[in-house]
Amino acid sequence: MFDSLTQRLNRTLKNISGQGRITEDNIKDTLREIRMSLLEADVALPVVKTFTARVKERALGKEVNLSLTPGQEFVQAVYDELVNTMGGENAELNLAHQPPAVILLAGLQGAGKTTSAGKLALHIKDKLKRKTLLVSVDTYRPAAIEQLQTLATQIKVDCYPSDASKRPEDIAREALEFAKIKGYGVLIVDTAGRLAVDEDMMAEVKTLHALTDPVETLFVVDAMTGQDAANTAKAFAEALPLTGVILTKADGDARGGAALSVREITGKPIKFIGMGEKIEALEPFHPDRIASRILDMGDVLSLIEQINDKVDVDKAKQMAERISKGKGFTLEDFRDHLEQMKNMGGVQSLLEKLPGMGEFGDQLKDQINDKKFSHMTAIINSMTPKERRDPQIIRGSRKRRIAAGAGVEVHEVNVLLRQFDMMSKMMKKFGKGGMPKMMRAMGSMMGGMGGLGKLLGR
Ligand code: GDP
Ligand code: MG
Repeated sequence: MFDSLTQRLNRTLKNISGQGRITEDNIKDTLREIRMSLLEADVALPVVKTFTARVKERALGKEVNLSLTPGQEFVQAVYDELVNTMGGENAELNLAHQPPAVILLAGLQGAGKTTSAGKLALHIKDKLKRKTLLVSVDTYRPAAIEQLQTLATQIKVDCYPSDASKRPEDIAREALEFAKIKGYGVLIVDTAGRLAVDEDMMAEVKTLHALTDPVETLFVVDAMTGQDAANTAKAFAEALPLTGVILTKADGDARGGAALSVREITGKPIKFIGMGEKIEALEPFHPDRIASRILDMGDVLSLIEQINDKVDVDKAKQMAERISKGKGFTLEDFRDHLEQMKNMGGVQSLLEKLPGMGEFGDQLKDQINDKKFSHMTAIINSMTPKERRDPQIIRGSRKRRIAAGAGVEVHEVNVLLRQFDMMSKMMKKFGKGGMPKMMRAMGSMMGGMGGLGKLLGR
């Protein structure tokens, strides 16, 4: 995702890291390069302009931070502005409405509405635990209704049996009534799309909107269309009170123009991002995580994160002390460690920096990714303190109880215990290498060894 933008920006930013104080003069070229990178990524021109102006303002207006080189300060300005441009914080799905809370999906043909309807239903069922009903009012495209029905069956969510010979608004009315009577918490309405925004389509969506009074009206748009995505979303937002955007097919988008343009152009947040054809491939959109992925700056970025106090240095220190006293690495340490990595954004890039990862790197990387993260924490949370101290005792019935408590399969508990085992072995290895070696390891694990090493008196 966004690989080409990442490459361009990073090449540009590496050039500045050697320079002296940030002045208008010495960032001029870099700003021009950034501008080029963004234009190449198909970011909308007005967004490119405000972006570069704000980066400049941030970089020049910064208080001097002695822990950062000017290059790092500049990178931080770019990172902060990326986050800001994409909306700052994750905009959560709003379901605060008398049930059924209606979610209306609109967008052009092929944007990914039907797929996203299914993905969203799964997300709501699994994560938000609401009883959900799907309905298709796409009576134009043959098999559109069936497509949604198939997805619904696959994820075990109910789908209202739409009659393609009826008018969309009649189907919507029936489905809404049905959802009310049957006590559904959420109703997701999948609508028809056209090849381009036209009056008929707008009129139909407006009618559906008035009729169903949705709490969320989400515009579904294909990331591969770049800045056009933002412009069509804007056209829709002028006709309908959109509450947000689902950006699909980000998995295949090397450029990132849509992700960076939508918020600024429409004023509406991207709420979810589609990361593949699979039904699970929908992620809540977190501007900070996306910015971290775009600026895959490894150490520089984690150093910045550390200085921003995202890392709990005290806990890291405690853990280091305990291990050095031969107390061993516990599941609670493991959980803290997971939390810290989560706070710092992308797990993958952090894992790459973990020393010793070469040996079992790929295996671990497959097993630990952002999605599994919250599961892992949940599993550890479901254990009793005794189990956390002594995982050896976790067998058959304990495993089943932990899995049920965390809402995961038993095999995930097994995987976690195995991962924990590998981590403890790794910790032991560092232990033998003596404190300095371990400090360094912990330092880079916790986000940049510089500050932490100093803090720990190394
Ligand atoms: P609709 O016309 O808006 O309902 O679009 P569909 O849901 O039928 O999707 C059109 C195509 O896009 C299908 O082949 C989907 O599998 C594909 N698609 C949808 N979302 C994603 C995504 O996030 N990533 C990828 N790679 N493909 C997607
Ligand atoms: Mg469809």
